[in-house]
Amino acid sequence: MATNPAEVLSLPKPAWAADEVGMLYDMATRFMSEEIAPRYDEFEKNEMVDRESWLKAGSAGLLCASMPEEYGGSGGTFAHESAIIEAIGHVGVDGFGIGLHNSIVAPYILHYGSEEQKKKWLPRLATGELIGAIAMTEPGAGSDLQGVKTRAEKDGNQYKINGSKTFITNGQLANFIIVVTKTDPEKGAKGTSLMVIETEEVEGFERGRNLDKIGLKANDTSELFFNDVRVPTSNLLGHEEGQGFVQLMQQLPQERLQIGTGAIAMIERALALTIDYVKERKAFGKAIIDFQNTQFKLAELKTEATIGRVFYNDCVTRHINGGLDPVTASMAKYWLSDLQGKVVDECLQLHGGYGYMNEYPIARMFRDARVQRIYGGTNEIMKLLIGRSL
Ligand SMILES: Cc1cc2nc3c(=O)[nH]c(=O)nc-3n(C[C@H](O)[C@H](O)[C@H](O)COP(=O)(O)OP(=O)(O)OC[C@H]3O[C@@H](n4cnc5c(N)ncnc54)[C@H](O)[C@@H]3O)c2cc1C
Repeated sequence: MATNPAEVLSLPKPAWAADEVGMLYDMATRFMSEEIAPRYDEFEKNEMVDRESWLKAGSAGLLCASMPEEYGGSGGTFAHESAIIEAIGHVGVDGFGIGLHNSIVAPYILHYGSEEQKKKWLPRLATGELIGAIAMTEPGAGSDLQGVKTRAEKDGNQYKINGSKTFITNGQLANFIIVVTKTDPEKGAKGTSLMVIETEEVEGFERGRNLDKIGLKANDTSELFFNDVRVPTSNLLGHEEGQGFVQLMQQLPQERLQIGTGAIAMIERALALTIDYVKERKAFGKAIIDFQNTQFKLAELKTEATIGRVFYNDCVTRHINGGLDPVTASMAKYWLSDLQGKVVDECLQLHGGYGYMNEYPIARMFRDARVQRIYGGTNEIMKLLIGRSL
């Protein structure tokens, strides 16, 4: 029987993963295995998951799991989001961008939206009618977000938005985009504001290329252009202009933690697949697992994965209780994504030449893992943030 990624580490489940979170994990795993995995090659070829799959995920209750029920969500916590992202990682459909939609885009509306905005947008994000993206990065501003140039100028009861963004996850499919803009370029970070654009309601919005990446092929990472895009002033997030930078800083810990979720899930899947492979494959008259090097390597990886999982579980416990500080979230993002890169690389090595063949899942994992050290703030920026706390 194949090793189960959810059980590859000999660890008890944390309290937050019990009961209905466990049931959600099982349901999400079934959904990803039955609805997404069989079509994943097609999605990779098309360089996006189709809209129908988003709607199905919405019907299955996999969108906005942590949003309150009164706004169409399932009333859960980050534990529920973790269960869904873990299911995605364990099944190996990492390019399906619902993690970003659920635990990055929707929370901005919940935390900073007016009652009217929440009622208007969250229920449609929960069904998949609206697909979310967050557009921070620009061709000239990635790590240094203060360098954002996209301008939102007030004009009567509208904002006029001009600028361009790049590397935006869900960029081809998204019809609901939170855009980081400057409402007052003179004021630096204090002149930053978040604007919501419902792309179907505006003129002047253009999608650029669906970018050709080395991994995460099923995600439509794209360029976006805004040419005199007009939105009502009521699309500003927050009660006044200039709150954007603070809002971003407050939400980044969850964004960073969920990158850790993807990392630990892929680590567990890589281990499970590799343990199965080395038991089957033979060389010199014995199974690869019978070589001491294989056992030592896998012993090291399982140990490090266990340390990673314990740390991750603790971060989630703290986050649910409102106590995950930005420094620890940065540690989780940097350390777990670094470990992911290492584990996947070592696991690929134990597959020999087959590990380099795309028909083996470890090959795709190798390509998909690489970006985890780059997006959500590079791991160098994470170390900078941790360093500042010393
Ligand atoms: C697949 C993918 C999906 C993405 N999705 C999104 C998205 O949905 N929304 C979005 O807004 N962005 C997204 N991004 C963008 C991503 O967040 C940025 O690429 C990332 O923050 C790095 O910015 P940059 O590419 O401009 O690199 P740069 O900032 O140019 O960095 C280049 C190198 O310099 C290093 N560096 C920079 N500053 C420092 C410093 N002070 N000290 C030490 N080293 C430093 C970096 O660590 C890096 O190694 C995505 C990127 C990718 C590849």
